[in-house]
Amino acid sequence: MVEWFSDALEPLEKKTEVRTYRVALSCPECGEGEMVFTGMTWPTVNPGYHHKCTKCEYICAIRGRQYPQTRTEPK
Ligand SMILES: [Zn+2]
Repeated sequence: MVEWFSDALEPLEKKTEVRTYRVALSCPECGEGEMVFTGMTWPTVNPGYHHKCTKCEYICAIRGRQYPQTRTEPK
């Protein structure tokens, strides 16, 4: 039997202040633009996400990752 919790969870929550980063990927072709996820996905086991350069319009698929992405790290 699984126990359900819905409210009054505050005493169990642990808050940690973090630093937030926006991580962008430089274009491997021109080196100046930024690769941005187009919304197109190759639905393989480890999906390929289509990205397009903001400058030269180079297109590539990136396995398992989307850019730009947001990352948090402990302060
Ligand atoms: Zn480019």
